[in-house]
This record gives sequence, C-alpha cells and structure tokens, in this order.
Amino acid sequence: MTEALTIDLHTHSNRSDGSLSPGDLVARAAAAGIGVLALTDHDTTAGLDEAGGAAAMAGIRLVPGIELSASWRAQAIHILGLWIDPAGAPLRARLESQDSRRRLRMRRICARLGTLGLPGAELLAAVETQPGVPTRAHLAAAMVSGGHVGRTDEAFRKYLGKGRPAHFAADWPPLAEIVTWVREAGGIACLAHPARYALSKGARRQMLTDFAAAGGTALEVVTGANGAQHVEAAAMLAANFGLMGSVGSDFHDPRQTWNPLGRSLKLPDRVVPVWRAYGL
Ligand code: AMP
Ligand code: MN
Ligand code: MN
Ligand code: MN
Repeated sequence: MTEALTIDLHTHSNRSDGSLSPGDLVARAAAAGIGVLALTDHDTTAGLDEAGGAAAMAGIRLVPGIELSASWRAQAIHILGLWIDPAGAPLRARLESQDSRRRLRMRRICARLGTLGLPGAELLAAVETQPGVPTRAHLAAAMVSGGHVGRTDEAFRKYLGKGRPAHFAADWPPLAEIVTWVREAGGIACLAHPARYALSKGARRQMLTDFAAAGGTALEVVTGANGAQHVEAAAMLAANFGLMGSVGSDFHDPRQTWNPLGRSLKLPDRVVPVWRAYGL
C-alpha cells in the first residue's frame, strides 16, 4: 500500500443517535476520503446492511460494528464491537435485551421529568416515535423542540446528566459480560473514549485491568475532539495493559462541525493498530 488509508472506526447513523442515514453517512465518509469506516450505532446493528451496500457502491470498506452500553462499578462504559457478525442468534437476543433496558429507562426518565413540571408523556411519545433505538440524545432533542431547554447540552446539564434530577444509572450488563457478547459475535472488543468516564486514575486502571482480563483487545487511543495529551495518555494505557489501539471520530452529525468524520485520526507509531490483524 503506497498511500495511507484513512480509517474511522467509530461513527453513528440515525439507527441510533446520529443524524444521517447509514447510506448518507457512508457517502459522506467516502467524500471525505475515508477508506475504512466502521458504523458503530448504540446497541444496534440495524444500519449495517444499508451501510454495507452503500460502501460497496462507494468503493470503501465497511467494518461491521456496534457501540455497546456496559456498566462497571455503576459507571456506564461504552464498548465498541468491531468486525462483528450481526446475524447470530445470541447477539440478536442480547440486543433485544439492551433495547428493553433502554425503553424502560426512557420511561423512568420521562416520568421523573413529569414530576419536575415538564410534559413527560409528550416527551416520551416524541422519543418513541423516532426510528431506531431511543437514547438520551433523542430526548434532549425533543426537549429542545418543545422549548424546555435552549440546547441539547443544557438538557444534560440541567436534567439528564450524571448527578442531575432526571438521571438514572441504567442497569447495563457488566463490562466483562459485554466483552463476551462481542467475542461470541466473532468481533473484537475495543474500549471507547477512555478519557470520558468520571473515574479516578486508579479506578480507570482497575477498569482497564478488568477489561483486559475479560478478553478486551483494544483501546480507542484517538477519539473525536480529544487533544494530543489525551492521545498520549491513552497510548500509554494501551501499552501498559497490552491492548491494541483504535481510532474513531465518534461522528454523530455534520452540524457538529468540531467533530467531522475521519479528522486527525493518526495513531501514535508505538501503538499496534487494531486493524493490523485484518490485513489493513
Ligand atoms: P444514552 O446512550 O441513551 O445514555 O445516550 C447518550 C448519548 O447522548 C451519547 O451517546 C451522546 O451522543 C449524547 N450525550 C451524552 N452526553 C451529552 C451531553 N452532555 N451533551 C450532548 N449530548 C450528550
Ligand atoms: Mn451517541
Ligand atoms: Mn460513547
Ligand atoms: Mn459513540
């Protein structure tokens, strides 16, 4: 290979909380010069067929992926499953269970919003009529549309974020179990955006110890809008815990102009790229 491939292994479509259809996402990635793209919607593989078809048309490579919600000591942790087979029966059943957890949590959140003087039932209906899995991002958007907050980040800051009155710690399956789901679906487990969790340094290290012990393979060393110091810190963690490295924008929406597809996703040379095992 003479020219370096641009690789982006963490993106969302409107099958979860992204704004573009899987086909439009792939077309945009191809136009941005991305050669290898993973679609990693939250707890769903519903966009992979459409994305795969679009990738074949556009001449880029699609990595079938997912971003699974897990918990570790009451902290929500996101595990990317990359190169998964979305068709297996065990995974299908497990994603059904994630969908139920999401819908139950959304009902709880909206009931709480009702007690806080917001139209909970209306907001719940707005989320539930959306296609795809319901996320807090959908709810935040509905709160903006209803004029209850000015912007989505305000919805998280005032109501939905950790420590706020309408926050519910979802009962996501334990980290180790989610790693097993990925492995049994034939994929490799990659811990997403390690800097984003509200964990002490020691707790973060323990979490990575547990992730590696459970069969986790990779760490998302370069992620979205993270700065150089985050990349360095994550590269160090990958080395310390014997993990390969991944890169992903965590792209959701072209209107989030600070976080475009495929931008500055250069893995430090000393990190073993997770795609090496796949001939890339
Ligand atoms: P959920 O998976 O239902 O907990 O929803 C979380 C999603 O909401 C994340 O994947 C982000 O896309 C979005 N999100 C989380 N925190 C914020 C925030 N502070 N501001 C805007 N969006 C957020
Ligand atoms: Mn999201
Ligand atoms: Mn995430
Ligand atoms: Mn994501």
